[in-house]
Amino acid sequence: MIDGIRLTKAPIRWGMVGGGRGSQIGYVHRSAAMRDGYFDLKAGAFDLDPDRGRAFGADLGLDPDRCYPDYRAMFAAESARPDGIRCVTVATPNNTHYPITRAALLADLHVICEKPLTFTTAEALDLQAIASERGLVVGVTYGYSGHQMIEEAARLVANGTLGDIRIVTLQFAHGFHSAAVEGDNPAARWRVDPAFAGPSYVLGDLATHPLYIAQVICPDLRIKRLLCTRQSFVASRAPLEDNATVLMEYHGGAVGTLWTSAVNAGSMHGQKVRVTGSRGSVEWWDEHPNQLRLEIQGEPARVLDRGMAYLHPQSLTDDRIGAGHPEGLFEAWANLHSRFALAIEAHEEGDPSRVAHLRYPGIEAGVEGVRWVEHCVRSADAGGVWVDYG
Ligand code: NAD
Repeated sequence: MIDGIRLTKAPIRWGMVGGGRGSQIGYVHRSAAMRDGYFDLKAGAFDLDPDRGRAFGADLGLDPDRCYPDYRAMFAAESARPDGIRCVTVATPNNTHYPITRAALLADLHVICEKPLTFTTAEALDLQAIASERGLVVGVTYGYSGHQMIEEAARLVANGTLGDIRIVTLQFAHGFHSAAVEGDNPAARWRVDPAFAGPSYVLGDLATHPLYIAQVICPDLRIKRLLCTRQSFVASRAPLEDNATVLMEYHGGAVGTLWTSAVNAGSMHGQKVRVTGSRGSVEWWDEHPNQLRLEIQGEPARVLDRGMAYLHPQSLTDDRIGAGHPEGLFEAWANLHSRFALAIEAHEEGDPSRVAHLRYPGIEAGVEGVRWVEHCVRSADAGGVWVDYG
């Protein structure tokens, strides 16, 4: 049970790039990072518009001298301060993740970066090499993976309850962009522009979330080859897709499917992960994140609830309020941020091995998401053909 006691020695001095006033995800980052006192917001380059960014930082209560016009000025000034930031979050549109994260790592800062980490696998591997050389942590905010029932699903797979894993069925398909809302909505507009979003829209923006969750639940599955088709049902979005379907074959014979969409009219979020083995299946749905459906062939289906004593002890470590009360996205993100902080402290103290057991989406998860999108786009743009996964 989390009692609000910080497990690190001190809060990490922290800054943000992006996540400014009115941004979609900025507040979720601040809420998650500061929830249990692991991170202390000291500086920011919050906005593409320097004046708006400075005003926003001041409204958040930051020292106006530490509200910077851009990330370069922030990294230079903070590096020169004895009390400068040690970690920075990058919560800007996709096209900026690579240059900003690279500059941060070269300024010896740990980074928490939004997904997709970069446009290309080569860029993601470059970040991985720099982080590894400098002993720095890169966390990637696959935030849903911090929900407690994901841990329980992973335990059910690991302890053999489901039998041999055969089928993985993934979905993240909402309906909010069924029409061309990007005309009036800046956060939707950059998502359908390759210059800002990269080589994909929903594959990178949505599908990488359940993909990572499946990797957490089934860590032994390795993709052997995949086939993707993608469509732009709102034609002006081409070449970027607002709908895509992916077939996957894993080494060892298991298979997977993934449907991702922003035009699933009527759906609120529609992120579901179902894992089927030779004995049974588990299914998790992000609109009811406190529950996990467990179906064993020949037995009545069960709905497992977060916080209950029948769960694996590891699935209870992040419980904040006990069973029966709903926890949600803010808690899931805060769970990941506590792990990011523990990992950062261990790296700063030169002892990363002590957090080897911690599950958090790090740079490997970021690289893998980018690699997967790249393969999907290659398959789809070749007419929907199988491509070997390497
Ligand atoms: P948004 O358009 O709502 O906000 C972007 C913010 O970044 C704005 O405040 C903008 O002024 C600022 N900005 C842009 N370029 C900047 C720069 N060079 N320097 C400083 N600030 C800059 O976008 P959003 O929806 O918040 O998405 C931001 C990122 O978060 C994207 O990569 C997106 O994929 C990701 N995201 C992730 C999740 C998740 O669940 N992990 C959810 C939503 C968004």
